Amino acid sequence: MLQRAGWDVEADGLFGAPPITVLIGADAHATVYSGIKYLGLGAQRVRTIACDASGRILASDFARAIAAASGPVIAIAQAGQINTGACDPFDAIAPIAAAAGAWLHVDGAFGLWAQASPAQAALTRGVERADSWATDGHKWLQTPYDCGFAIVRDAEAHRRAMAITASYLPQPEGAERDPSAYVPELSRRARGFATWAMIRQLGREGIAAMVAGHCAIAQHMAARLATVPGIALVCPVALNQFMVRFGAGGEAGDALTLATVRQVQEDAIAFVGAAQWRGRWVMRVSVTSIATTPADADVTVDAVISAWERVARSQ
Ligand SMILES: *Cc1c(COP(=O)(O)O)cnc(C)c1O
Repeated sequence: MLQRAGWDVEADGLFGAPPITVLIGADAHATVYSGIKYLGLGAQRVRTIACDASGRILASDFARAIAAASGPVIAIAQAGQINTGACDPFDAIAPIAAAAGAWLHVDGAFGLWAQASPAQAALTRGVERADSWATDGHKWLQTPYDCGFAIVRDAEAHRRAMAITASYLPQPEGAERDPSAYVPELSRRARGFATWAMIRQLGREGIAAMVAGHCAIAQHMAARLATVPGIALVCPVALNQFMVRFGAGGEAGDALTLATVRQVQEDAIAFVGAAQWRGRWVMRVSVTSIATTPADADVTVDAVISAWERVARSQ
């Protein structure tokens, strides 16, 4: 973005550079803000974009924010909100970003994998129009930790930012790929091997079946829980995760929700965590392990209902 604005950031850094505006959805993941800080842009430079009830960027607010920005704009959208699984409306926002010359990045840590499943792919419609994407192997693809992937449309910008040259290093010949030209380090372990092994093991169809299967399990769990008196689904299930609340609204419901989460964890039949959504506590359920079967899901739902009934009785 700075090169387009006539500034050589590799040579001159960010001091004195044209100010960059960063747009981020209000329900973005906390790590996006660390990324902004690592880049030297600063967390306060961000203009947050209003989102709908499921955490999707509102295209109208996105358009307003882009129109109001002067100078280079980096917009960060998301596939897979950490609590709701919802994906931003890429087909609406990508043309707005492109028309304004903004760089559109997509945090697709787990949600980008919706693309792999024909049943879920429509959720990420338009995502291919972005400039860069990040996704993880260590979530839905089931690789060990720290297999993350960055994909950048502008190959030259990517190479300029990452390549390190030194006279003692071998020069890649012809079209040979030099892995260190794509990442910050010169030395790293072969994360690509774990990734290759999982893709080889599951295959295109296996990955699609896993993604679709987890989404179906999440739908089933949420539907069963929502039939129980005192349990409320917070948002419609978009992908593989969802939130439920227990008891009343407000602080009383917060206390009952936290007590139910604690009870499920103490019972140790299944694991669910607590999270905050719109300032209220929820039980957060994420279906993401290849080992989870529909039968496991029913055992989990039974465990949650049983925990809730005991918490409710003790009131
Ligand atoms: C997990 C997650 C992250 C963080 O990714 P790591 O690679 O595990 O650090 C970022 N964004 C979203 C939406 C996530 O779900």
